[in-house]
Amino acid sequence: MSLDDLAPQSWAGADDVVIVGGGLAGLFCALKLGERPITIVTAAPLGDGASSAWAQGGIAAAVGLGDSAEAHAADTVAAGAGIVDVEIARLMTREASDRIADLLAFGVPFDRDLEGKLLLSREAAHSERRIVRVNGDLAGRAIMGALVAAVRRKANIRVLEGFAAESLVTRGRFVTGVSARRIGDPSGRPVQVIGRAVVLATGGIGHLYAVTTNPPEARGAGLAMAARAGALLADLEFVQFHPTAIAVGRDPAPLATEALRGEGSVLVDSAGRRIMEGVHPDLDLAPRDIVARAVYQAAQAGGAFLDARDAVGNRFPTRFPTVFAACQTAGIDPTREPIPVAPAAHYHMGGVLTDANGRSSLDGLWACGETASTGAHGANRLASNSLLEAVVFAARIAEDIQGLTPAAPATARMRGEPADHDGSLPDSAATATLRRTMTDLVGVLRDGPQLTRAIETLDRLRREAIGADFANMATSALLIAISAERRKESRGAHMRSDFAAPREEWERRSTISLKDALDSLGQNAVELAAS
Ligand SMILES: Cc1cc2nc3c(=O)[nH]c(=O)nc-3n(C[C@H](O)[C@H](O)[C@H](O)COP(=O)(O)OP(=O)(O)OC[C@H]3O[C@@H](n4cnc5c(N)ncnc54)[C@H](O)[C@@H]3O)c2cc1C
Repeated sequence: MSLDDLAPQSWAGADDVVIVGGGLAGLFCALKLGERPITIVTAAPLGDGASSAWAQGGIAAAVGLGDSAEAHAADTVAAGAGIVDVEIARLMTREASDRIADLLAFGVPFDRDLEGKLLLSREAAHSERRIVRVNGDLAGRAIMGALVAAVRRKANIRVLEGFAAESLVTRGRFVTGVSARRIGDPSGRPVQVIGRAVVLATGGIGHLYAVTTNPPEARGAGLAMAARAGALLADLEFVQFHPTAIAVGRDPAPLATEALRGEGSVLVDSAGRRIMEGVHPDLDLAPRDIVARAVYQAAQAGGAFLDARDAVGNRFPTRFPTVFAACQTAGIDPTREPIPVAPAAHYHMGGVLTDANGRSSLDGLWACGETASTGAHGANRLASNSLLEAVVFAARIAEDIQGLTPAAPATARMRGEPADHDGSLPDSAATATLRRTMTDLVGVLRDGPQLTRAIETLDRLRREAIGADFANMATSALLIAISAERRKESRGAHMRSDFAAPREEWERRSTISLKDALDSLGQNAVELAAS
């Protein structure tokens, strides 16, 4: 049965393509879908509530003289600690320059030199200068600004802002839409948005942790929705912790971009000693997981700091305006004093298992951006590869959908729903318990007994959950904890003190389904339906 064999009346008045999420992945996919009727359902108003808008570094692309897609792929594979899908990494790095060209065409003002060539900078674990950026550390804001404007100009794209998707609508094996509810109206009726193709682009899971750099909307809704509909998920145990979130008690924690270390800033402990000396030959530019663990240990032992006084000094306000503003708000002058830092949940390598065209294991469901797991990142993402992955696979999904399903005729209903709230999803005491559990027990350093405790707590929270939003959070958190417990080794971002080394039998990606997870907890299919 193909999508079009479903009874035609089921599509009557239906949308053509439904995209859940208005970050870079969702917007780019919508723009690449051409003139088809598209509905974007997004929890926050466009431009808000998306990690994409907060990206400081930029996008990795081998567009410089002497660089190559192969070299970029090799760095990606090396960072991924043995489990990157090499073919996926190769196609992603090969398609990078075309996607940069698309972004330029959508109006993104990437930094250029006097000859008009793209200015490139270097980040940790990249062998070349290949990060395309905007105005120093403003890449995310500029990229999203251009894409939001481009989407707003398109009459074929309807944007439902302020609606949180809660579950996928299915018919047999097919995903046929999403059920969403207006934020701030928990007792209101959910609305169903039905389409021929559904693309999940709901971003990451950082907000499942008490200390994170992600916006509150990054709470794993896409993962949980896909899991509850029966999709396979992959590599969930691999959560990247950014080593240098600014530790001033803010939620989310502001980020001190890695580019600061690229420019020579150094990590020091409370006694002023270099933290990375003797830890890794690349010192402060070592892979992110290694730096995060060293910073975590220094922070536990009395404090960790990023010292940018010599390397950046007075250029700080112009070179890194976002970081400078965050420091100023916290009463820190980074030109004169070291910045207190701590690791924070930052990026999820795992997600909905997808193939090279972004297809999930369920018919009619695609996923891209941070909510997907393409295999490009393995156990550890290379810096600035996530924006790249978002655009490469969003474009591939658009092409796949174009090839698979003829466009529905455009209708006259292309009007958006403006947000009538401030865009924030509510948090509760149970949410605080969940987030603390994740940071304390499923964090930078893990072990078996801690993970078992986490699973017990998260499963209880999931079973007692009131409301779809929290049930989704608890489901995603539980699946991450179970995946972390199952991987009895240390690899990339997944570090276990009870299995401190990598093990050959684990040199592979992991997959999990909700049914499989609940079976392992002795719960049955009735539970699954209710979860
Ligand atoms: C501070 C920071 C700096 C970063 N810097 C870089 C960088 O320099 N380079 C790089 O490559 N990567 C960087 N990253 C990572 C990168 O920004 C993200 O991985 C990427 O932007 C994810 O894009 P996305 O479209 O998948 O998700 P997002 O941009 O997070 O968008 C997700 C969208 O889904 C919506 N949403 C969520 N849940 C629901 C729901 N239930 N219903 C409806 N809508 C929902 C959100 O409102 C949002 O619109 C950074 C991340 C952070 C947090």
